[in-house]
Amino acid sequence: MPAPLALVETDAGSPQAADAVIIGAGIVGVFAAYYLARRGLKVALVEKGRVGAEQSSRNWGWCRQQNRDARELPMATRSLDLWERFAAESGEDTGFRRCGLLYLSDNEEELAGWARWRDFARTVGVTTCMLDSTKASERGKATGRAWKGGVFSPTDGTADPANAAPAVARAIAKLGGTVHQNCAARGIELEGGKLSAVVTEHGTIRTKIAVLAGGAWASSFCRQLGIRFPQASVRSSILSVEPGAGDLPDALHTARVSVTRRGDGGHTLAISGRGRVDPTAQNMRFAGQFLPMFMRRWRSLSPGGLEGIRSGHESLVGWRLDRPTPMEQMRILDPAFDRRTIRLTHQRAIELLPSLGGRRITASWAGYIDSTPDGVPAIGEVATVPGFILAAGFSGHGFGIGPGAGHLIADIVTATAPIVDPEPYHPKRFQASAWGKVADF
Ligand SMILES: Cc1cc2nc3c(=O)[nH]c(=O)nc-3n(C[C@H](O)[C@H](O)[C@H](O)COP(=O)(O)OP(=O)(O)OC[C@H]3O[C@@H](n4cnc5c(N)ncnc54)[C@H](O)[C@@H]3O)c2cc1C
Repeated sequence: MPAPLALVETDAGSPQAADAVIIGAGIVGVFAAYYLARRGLKVALVEKGRVGAEQSSRNWGWCRQQNRDARELPMATRSLDLWERFAAESGEDTGFRRCGLLYLSDNEEELAGWARWRDFARTVGVTTCMLDSTKASERGKATGRAWKGGVFSPTDGTADPANAAPAVARAIAKLGGTVHQNCAARGIELEGGKLSAVVTEHGTIRTKIAVLAGGAWASSFCRQLGIRFPQASVRSSILSVEPGAGDLPDALHTARVSVTRRGDGGHTLAISGRGRVDPTAQNMRFAGQFLPMFMRRWRSLSPGGLEGIRSGHESLVGWRLDRPTPMEQMRILDPAFDRRTIRLTHQRAIELLPSLGGRRITASWAGYIDSTPDGVPAIGEVATVPGFILAAGFSGHGFGIGPGAGHLIADIVTATAPIVDPEPYHPKRFQASAWGKVADF
């Protein structure tokens, strides 16, 4: 069953020329196109399936600074402001609210880790409140039990995954940009060693700039261009229940289960970090580079099955620009959810918040979370293909930082002062043989 998603009507075919072509209408692609269109560029956003239908509608909706890696925190902070500004500027509703995020724990080590992060966050002006047992139990009163402690991040929030990317797509159209669904980009053309066109299934778009915001498909697309982009994905399973569970925290994390209020008043239930690794040719290719990440996270991961091979996003096949590609065979990556995980998640959520017990399950789904070896996204122009900007590998954080990433991409394209230091994101770091520091989730 796919994740709930609002559908948008968009433009047919594809234009003959554009100032910039954005490939992929997930949250990163739509915000990149939006900020470019605001600067007066003629943008064309091409999406092989539906706007937002892959990771960007399948997530929890958390937009957080809390526990972010130092490299990503500035982008997370700026993104929260941009989520708010977007609503005011565009008149479109992504469901974003600074509702604050609540973390509860009985584990001293975990609490100490959060306190360390709070100390670091203070140095960069980010407020987060450690909760002692009394305060944690009070904030978590819906659980009906006492907690050793917790943390509340009052300036963080959530947006609505079912509506966010579609809302931004509508805003792009208002600014004169075009959005094309069921329009896969098959590749690019070069002239004099520089990007000169994007070839789509509906025709060629002349352009000097292409942004690849293709999520889990980015590495296989890059491989066609001779670009080595180490990327791997984990299949994560998640479910939603109907509204009516009463007065619960808007966004609550515990080690066993996390619960988030959805835009429709229902709740999303999930287990943080848990996922299946489906073996694929691409996984094998980059296995060495992902070893430190795997060592860090192996406890919550388990081996998957043939889902990854069936999906086709991580195959090593080459494709031609005049024939249908794997992207046209898999319009929407909608992998099978893991039934055991769904059962366990539901059971744990009811144990934590008994009022969820009477609520009907409205949907269960899975999503491939695409990751880089260090857990920090890859954003930047690829030196070997001038005009080609890679923006993928958002490593489970891309929804919240989508606005900041889109803004940074627009800054790079228009050579304006970047909203955050672009250096930590540049994909050139993967060419070095040394393993980077793996980000915390
Ligand atoms: C279960 C789950 C929970 C998560 N929870 C959170 C959370 O709470 N907070 C958070 O910040 N992040 C979360 N994430 C991660 C977040 O959803 C992603 O990091 C983010 O959505 C990535 O956005 P994207 O635009 O890069 O990719 P996607 O949303 O995957 O979009 C990529 C798009 O590109 C299209 N595409 C690919 N190749 C082509 C091509 N050649 N031509 C045309 N179109 C193409 C695809 O069809 C797709 O629509 C979660 C992810 C999952 C799966």
